[in-house]
Amino acid sequence: MRVKTDYHVHPDYSVDAEAVKIREYCQGALELGIEEICFTTHLEFGAVEQGKDKIIYYKGKRWNIFDWEWLDGYFDEIDRAEKEFKSSGLSVKRGIEIGYLPNYLEEIEKVVNEYPFDFVLGGIHFIDGYFIASKIDCVDYFKTRSLETVGNDYFSMLGDMVESGLFDSVAHIDIYSRYGIRYFGKRINNLHKGRIEPILREIAQRNMGIEINTSSISRGLAEFHPTKEIISLAVQAGVKIFTVGSDAHELSNLGDYIDEALDMLDEFGLHNYIYEKRKALLTVSASYRIHKEREMWRIESKINRKEN
Ligand SMILES: [Zn+2]
Ligand SMILES: [Zn+2]
Repeated sequence: MRVKTDYHVHPDYSVDAEAVKIREYCQGALELGIEEICFTTHLEFGAVEQGKDKIIYYKGKRWNIFDWEWLDGYFDEIDRAEKEFKSSGLSVKRGIEIGYLPNYLEEIEKVVNEYPFDFVLGGIHFIDGYFIASKIDCVDYFKTRSLETVGNDYFSMLGDMVESGLFDSVAHIDIYSRYGIRYFGKRINNLHKGRIEPILREIAQRNMGIEINTSSISRGLAEFHPTKEIISLAVQAGVKIFTVGSDAHELSNLGDYIDEALDMLDEFGLHNYIYEKRKALLTVSASYRIHKEREMWRIESKINRKEN
């Protein structure tokens, strides 16, 4: 049996998430048969650049992102959940989703080095001060740029993000298609061609991971982030580490389409990974599956021998 995980979950610390506590998500995870949950609250410097500092929700109010006490609180709450849910068979991990921006490299470095994260997810949410992952804010960005410019800007930032060496895995690597498809149509599905390949090779070389982000489906897209085509390019480039995440900002999205994402990894012959203290580990399922496959093979060959 494979291990079901959700490696992209936003609890109530971020003002863009519903007021769902870490503990409530853990209870929800148990009900869904999820065996490992990794919280990835937002650390979003793009919003800071827009002049919004109070983007954290902590102690019942809006909190300044640079008043790091909230991050201590976040760790404490995860620690408590880890202890509480251990006996139920749920493991709970300490992650973060950092919105990459080149001007905030120092802050990012400080946070990832000073806090004991299990998993550091990096994603691009802002380009040129526009929040490209938001339905409303992306309008002005996409309307005033050519597809070519979007491609060059996005992939140049992505390349920098990967080369910074600060992240364990790349979140929703083709996120520009989330809303970009409304402006450029299906042409946007080709945007990666000729741009993403060297970045994927760099990801492989650095032993970084790529997440399968399932939130695209509930937004009406046909495929996960990234698409199967990009996954095959990643495989060709030698990327082996994949995680699966719902990107839940509310309880009802927890675990969404995770089974389907795991099916897809199976189709590609890929494995689902977990992280511990920023080290990628195979889920038990992979070795268990190999064991099971061998067992099946033995049974089948026995039957075949009898039939012959
Ligand atoms: Zn994101
Ligand atoms: Zn997210």
